[in-house]
Formats: sequence, structure tokens, C-alpha cells
Amino acid sequence: MAHKGVLIVISGFSGAGKGTLVKKLLETYDNYALSISMTTRKPREGEEEGKAYFFTDKEHFEEKISQNGFIEYAQYCDNYYGTPRAYVEEQLAVGKDVILEIEIQGALKIKEQFPESVLLFVTPPSAEELERRLIGRGTEEPDVIRKRLSRASEESEGIEAYDYIVVNDDLDICVEELHRLVDAARRAPVRREAFIKEIREELKSFAKGAE
Ligand code: ADP
Ligand code: 5GP
Repeated sequence: MAHKGVLIVISGFSGAGKGTLVKKLLETYDNYALSISMTTRKPREGEEEGKAYFFTDKEHFEEKISQNGFIEYAQYCDNYYGTPRAYVEEQLAVGKDVILEIEIQGALKIKEQFPESVLLFVTPPSAEELERRLIGRGTEEPDVIRKRLSRASEESEGIEAYDYIVVNDDLDICVEELHRLVDAARRAPVRREAFIKEIREELKSFAKGAE
């Protein structure tokens, strides 16, 4: 049976506005829960343990892999990144819509394991705007920005694997669009098994009465 909550994967180019969008979505609606990933990369300045990530070392990460502690994990730029299983399962079970902000290898693994999950790819309206946002954010040096733009070009090849592409032009409109897509996913028959069963049974009893 499908989970009560919707499992949502959000991917997209660095600088597309994923972090900004997710923050606004969490502030605006109370049906979402954000999964915090575990990583072996070092914290960046300002990143807090348990908020940005759970930071750990390779040994502990690999031990957690062997204990089936992740619903997915991937290696990205020489570091491990993974989604801890327990939190996601707990939140889905109580009906929260759980957001994973992960890259494409992880997104594909999620779709394989949870076919009813919703994969969203966030992009800015243009490449030019992506560059503007990366420069405007002011957190990376120019050479890192160039690397991220070149990675974005590679990542754009994977967009078709996603269920929906969400263009982050006006932030508020984009938040609404995202929320509506999740709402639509909730209406899939796979999530309405109890309702479908009930109406079928009622109809059967009517049909019997008409015989
Ligand atoms: P990501 O998490 O995808 O790397 P961020 O959320 O850090 O991206 O956003 C990158 C930059 O773009 C930030 O400076 C943010 O304030 C800005 N930004 C995000 N969404 C929009 C938008 N809709 N319009 C203009 N600027 C935006
Ligand atoms: P960063 O080091 O910039 O924070 O993240 C690098 C990439 O790893 C981003 O594309 C981010 O979305 C992705 N990522 C973060 N957490 C996870 C995770 O748990 N699993 C996977 N597969 N990717 C992740």
C-alpha cells in the first residue's frame, strides 16, 4: 500500500533556488517535513550540524550503509551523501509529505524503490539567470561558479527522468506550483485505496438491490 504522505524529491542546478523554495514551502504549509541528509563532506562556513546535514566520517557512513540505514545514498565529488531511513519512514507514516533535496543518482534510486514518489526538477528561467543568482548569492568564488555552471550543463541531460520540471521565476508563484503538484499526487488512485474500496462496496450493494 502507498504511504500516507507523499515522498518528494527536489533536484536542480546549484543556484536554481531549491533551498529558498523549500524554506518558503515549509514556512507556508504545515504538511511538509524536510529530510536532513548525512554526508562525509566537511561543513561549510555557517552550516550547522543537524540543520544543513549530519556530518560524519567515511567509517561511520559505511557502517550505516551496512545496517541498511539509508533509503538511498550516492557518491558525489568524492564524498558520500545519504538519506537516513528512520526519519523518512516515521514522517511518511504519520502523513507528512517528506522532501528530499538530493542529486539525480539518488533521485533515480528513490523512484525505483518508491514508484509513487514525485520527482521535481527545479530550474531558473534561463542559464543567464542561473549565473546571475550564483554570483548574487555571493557564497562561491568565480572559478567555483564556472564549475557549477559546467556541472549544470551535464545535469541538464538528466531532466527527462523527472516527473515535473518547475521553473523558478517568481518565487511565490513557484512555491504555489510546487504545492499544487504535490496536492495532485495525493489524488492518485494508489493513495486512495480505502476510498476506492468503500465506494466499490457501496456500489455493489446498490447493484444487488437493483437485481
Ligand atoms: P540552490 O539551493 O538551488 O543552490 P538557493 O536557494 O541558494 O539555490 O538560491 C540561489 C540564489 O538565488 C540565492 O541568492 C537566492 O536568494 C536567489 N533566488 C532564489 N529564488 C529566486 C527567485 N525566484 N528569483 C530571484 N532570485 C532567487
Ligand atoms: P552540497 O555538497 O553542495 O551540499 O551537495 C552536493 C549535492 O549532493 C547536491 O546536488 C545535493 O542535492 C546532493 N545531496 C545532498 N544530500 C543528498 C543525499 O542524501 N543523497 C543524494 N543522493 N544526494 C544528496
